Amino acid sequence: AAKTQERNTYRFYTPLMHADARMRLMLGADLRQALMRDEFYLVFQPSVELRSGRIVAVEALLRWRHPERGELMPDEFIPLAESLGLIRRIDAWTMRAVCSQIRQWDQAKLPPMRVALNASAATFGHPGFIDSVKHALQTSQISPKRLMFEITESAILRLGEATEQTMHALHALGIGIAIDDFGTGYSSLAYLKLSGIDFLKIDRSFIKDLPDSTNDMAIVEAMLAIAKSLDICTIAEGIETAAQHEYLLRAGCIEGQGYYYSRGLPASEIERMLSPNPRHETSRLRLVPPKY
Ligand code: C2E
Ligand code: MG
Ligand code: MG
Ligand code: MG
Repeated sequence: AAKTQERNTYRFYTPLMHADARMRLMLGADLRQALMRDEFYLVFQPSVELRSGRIVAVEALLRWRHPERGELMPDEFIPLAESLGLIRRIDAWTMRAVCSQIRQWDQAKLPPMRVALNASAATFGHPGFIDSVKHALQTSQISPKRLMFEITESAILRLGEATEQTMHALHALGIGIAIDDFGTGYSSLAYLKLSGIDFLKIDRSFIKDLPDSTNDMAIVEAMLAIAKSLDICTIAEGIETAAQHEYLLRAGCIEGQGYYYSRGLPASEIERMLSPNPRHETSRLRLVPPKY
């Protein structure tokens, strides 16, 4: 796969791209080592119930602490991991890490919130996927109800028939499913009737110009209406302002994520924020504490 990738890059040769291809090659080699060297870690972004301001879930987001380049974001290495065939092992690491994190939070007596994780098409479509999920659940002894997988429209499209089987199996296990970045792919409303879809995450691109863009308002309101009538919970991504929060609340969106509430935080900070006896004030967050 690396070879094809390289050839494709060289076909449109420019000196700049040459440097880029070299960079990718080097980064790819490092990526193969990253799991063994334990260089990945997770941050968790709260998902807030708009009406109450309570944190009802967190989304696990992957980070790579590169020995020379410092902290790398998923956009800088997930596509590479996908093209090198490494994503399944990385997603498996994420799943194990999330399950053991849930167990630790349970032991620390945090309120039992949902934890979402992202899975690439290769992961979701692999025949061994469901067995590995079952295994992770067994090892960590957590309830499947605590987990939610996020999958993008383009991944659903790429997988075709396999998607339906995987979703069915996850649903049967009691695990939640969200369509991620909704509206950016070949948005087909047909996806929404696939069994087991519990959440629809409206992509940030539709949120960023709210509440000024009447076009985006119309699109978002249509998405909210169809989700509601199909009994699918809605989550708006990338809320950055109070005006966006107010608008989405009034439009009937159920949950929101974004820098307005919080960025991705280390597990310890989530724990401090939600612990029944908070020892520290979390002044950075505009959140009311969760009810118990
Ligand atoms: P996503 O699932 O759509 O995650 C949301 C992304 O938007 C995150 O970027 C998050 O930090 C960012 N974000 C959240 N709120 C705001 C906001 O208010 N404003 C702006 N500008 N951005 C916001 P991040 O962490 O860089 O992740 C990028 C993508 O990488 C994710 O998009 C997800 O598709 C993928 N990803 C993350 N972790 C994993 C993983 O473990 N496995 C796989 N396969 N993909 C992952
Ligand atoms: Mg996501
Ligand atoms: Mg998303
Ligand atoms: Mg995204």
